[in-house]
Amino acid sequence: MTQNIFEAYNHAKKELANAGIEDYGFEARQMIRRVTGFSNQQILERYNQPLTAFQQNNLTAMLKQRSIRYPLQYMFGEWGFYGRDFYVGVGALIPRPDTETLVEEALKALEGTENPAVLDLCAGTGCIGITLAAERKDATVTLVEKYPEAMGYLTRNIERNRTDNTRALAGDIFESAGADRTYDLIVSNPPYIPAEEMDTVSPEVHFEPQEALYGGEDGLLFFRAIVANYRDSLKPGGRMMFEVGIGEAQAVAEILSQAGSTEIAVQKDYGGVDRVVSGKF
Ligand code: GLN
Repeated sequence: MTQNIFEAYNHAKKELANAGIEDYGFEARQMIRRVTGFSNQQILERYNQPLTAFQQNNLTAMLKQRSIRYPLQYMFGEWGFYGRDFYVGVGALIPRPDTETLVEEALKALEGTENPAVLDLCAGTGCIGITLAAERKDATVTLVEKYPEAMGYLTRNIERNRTDNTRALAGDIFESAGADRTYDLIVSNPPYIPAEEMDTVSPEVHFEPQEALYGGEDGLLFFRAIVANYRDSLKPGGRMMFEVGIGEAQAVAEILSQAGSTEIAVQKDYGGVDRVVSGKF
């Protein structure tokens, strides 16, 4: 059975809605774009054009995978973050819109500092550090990532975004990787999901690496380690800035304050969640 673009779009929407996917309209359009290679405008103009067998087969495969809630981002192998495209895939945390709040706050914190030195810990795909390096060509950004799978995406993303003002280090934050220099700003979106919430994350998250999600029993393990291991790697007046999980902002502010940090600030994301915590040292 051959469908035209319009029929395929409607069919995809229905299948995705049946799988319990909230944003089924958006995802159906993304899939049609992906299999046809058309822009939104071209889709509107050619809505009655029949799909080729090849396009139809690929759409069917995508809908099957999505019906078990395999992430769309892993199927596509790339995803947008802060206006740029990043390679993503199995073994790396998918860039999330929430994390754009961390980038915005980081850019604000760097205003007025020329040639800033920045450190991104637990960098994953590199979307935070690479975005900062792209937005601030005068910066030098060090990205630390422990896992080779994620590091593969990270180095390809540096090339893709032509951010040669970066340094990618394979290493562990528990061993102070990257603490060989001093920085104006240290940013991190570390694993922060507490033990009791690991089973209740949305179905898509079960396809992402546990190592990028699990933050120890209370979720705060990485924040404690980063503050302890890296506070001496900040230049005087430098800041540390974290993305945190729902309900963690006060506890992370407390960790910073206990370590002697001042000017501690909490910023909400676009969903109204206290998402970014930062402090000066
Ligand atoms: N925000 C992610 C989630 O809730 C968690 C990412 C992280 O642990 N840093 O799925």
